[in-house]
Amino acid sequence: MFTGHYAASLAARAAGPRAPLWVYVGASQLLDFGWAGLVLAGVEKVGFDEKLPGSPLDLYFMPYTHSLTAAIGWSLAAMLVARRFWPGWEALLIGLTVFSHWLLDALVHRPDLLLYWPFSPDDRKLGLGLWNLPVPEMALEMGLLGLAAAMLTAQRVRERRSAWPILLFFAALVALQIYALLAPPATDAAGFAITALGAYSAMVVLAALVDTGKRGKASR
Ligand SMILES: [Zn+2]
Repeated sequence: MFTGHYAASLAARAAGPRAPLWVYVGASQLLDFGWAGLVLAGVEKVGFDEKLPGSPLDLYFMPYTHSLTAAIGWSLAAMLVARRFWPGWEALLIGLTVFSHWLLDALVHRPDLLLYWPFSPDDRKLGLGLWNLPVPEMALEMGLLGLAAAMLTAQRVRERRSAWPILLFFAALVALQIYALLAPPATDAAGFAITALGAYSAMVVLAALVDTGKRGKASR
């Protein structure tokens, strides 16, 4: 799951309009921001196998960002930080957006998500493995993204605000997904992590540019 994660941020922005889109966008990829940082630091590990269907990633060690308990911990931490800025509903939505990342990963990853905490004696791993069926997997990502973009666009039209920033953001995500599909397969962990951090950061900046969270005159 790559751009499909952003569906959660678009839907959360529609449900919690007081927090800006860029915060939800960062929240939806918080676990992967952490993952790419820890891969760069050599703490979490990734391998690449071009023969794997759907995604060449062999995510054999990522307990601090992608175990179920770690994901719950990061989600709660994000919610607590968010409460300082958006008390109430939006803070809860931000925490849920962080956690949505793990749920969506659990649908598509091969079993590589630890059920418990790092180094727990029970090292069962979850992952329904939709990556093994690349066409339905991509249809799911694009479908979720399209649905969430339509939700947010409809809300903005109802509020008599311009819908183009959301459509622009959606188009950028589709372009990024097409690039990711066509780019030569990654072979080196550090290079891949740097590219991933660049892409995640670019989407946060783009979200901040297209949608500041301010309401238009019509909705005041
Ligand atoms: Zn992930």
